[in-house]
Amino acid sequence: MSDVLVLAEHHNSEIKKITLELVTGARALGNPVVLWLGGGCTEDTVATLGNYGATKVLVADSDAVNNHPVAPGAEIVASLIDSLTPVAVLVASTADGKEVAARAAIKSNCGIITDAVEIAADSTVTQSVFGGSTVVHSRVTKGTPIITVRPNAIPATPQPFAAVREDISVDISAGAQRVTVKDRTVVAKGARPELTEAEVVVSGGRGVGGPEGFSVIESLADSLNAAVGASRAATDAGWYPHQFQVGQTGKTVSPQLYIANGISGAIQHRAGMQTSKVVVVVNKDPEAPIFELADYGVVGDLFTVVPQLSEEITKRK
Ligand SMILES: Cc1cc2nc3c(=O)[nH]c(=O)nc-3n(C[C@H](O)[C@H](O)[C@H](O)COP(=O)(O)OP(=O)(O)OC[C@H]3O[C@@H](n4cnc5c(N)ncnc54)[C@H](O)[C@@H]3O)c2cc1C
Repeated sequence: MSDVLVLAEHHNSEIKKITLELVTGARALGNPVVLWLGGGCTEDTVATLGNYGATKVLVADSDAVNNHPVAPGAEIVASLIDSLTPVAVLVASTADGKEVAARAAIKSNCGIITDAVEIAADSTVTQSVFGGSTVVHSRVTKGTPIITVRPNAIPATPQPFAAVREDISVDISAGAQRVTVKDRTVVAKGARPELTEAEVVVSGGRGVGGPEGFSVIESLADSLNAAVGASRAATDAGWYPHQFQVGQTGKTVSPQLYIANGISGAIQHRAGMQTSKVVVVVNKDPEAPIFELADYGVVGDLFTVVPQLSEEITKRK
């Protein structure tokens, strides 16, 4: 069986859930071989990746990788495409992941498909576009397919294998080291799950009416152990921090459950949440376009509906 190269996403050495999803998805195509860039890959890390089917974990930990963002990673991926000749390369559809994937595709003259929600055994990729109204099936026809996959699209399922670690060293060009990391600030992590990885996302829009209105959204989120999201109207108004914006110019989420409160459903918002498995809408306007995406909808004032929902969920826990 051929190898499938999976680029691991990790944060402060913690494996991100998307990495396990990518390894799970890779199993349909061949033997998952994980590439770990930077430090923090412990015996436990290798064992966890093996538990999801990784056969090998290639670790590229050097000053060049640690001190220069993105470009060295792309050179390493491109070099492994040459030496490993994988049948495909899977990368997370995150900002960094997509940048590494795009640069590696140019360097190795391979085709790239972004934002996959499904990958078939023959490398046919499914994408959901135009607010979820169109499903596209496509395949790379040039070189090794480089595919970025949306978080939460492929459920991570274990399939234990005794993965082995191999440290690799790749010469990084001077060009890839032009941008240098000068300082690192660890973002304070709240108690809520990370937005792009959360199983449940509760979002608020302009209908929330102001920063204080987000307290009802946060209460509902906490009753469901969910992440909080926001429309651009809410973040631009300064009601909620920009890092929580969902949409074309914000984060892309694909949770099991997305609850949109006081959000009209502009195409740019849908672009970031259209692949959510179940969509619940609370909006006082029955004509709001977001209802087109809704599996369940409540026409009503969110300040009446949302607290009742939180109370009922808390009661049933
Ligand atoms: C290039 C570009 C990129 C963009 N990127 C993004 C993006 O990434 N993400 C994004 O979200 N937008 C983005 N936008 C903006 C987008 O076009 C919309 O303007 C924005 O999504 C609207 O946000 P909203 O739904 O919260 O507000 P509105 O469209 O004003 O809708 C508010 C909704 O709340 C309802 N409502 C009001 N009060 C209540 C209440 N008390 N109870 C219940 N419902 C209530 C109303 O009926 C209405 O449907 C982008 C726009 C452009 C041009």
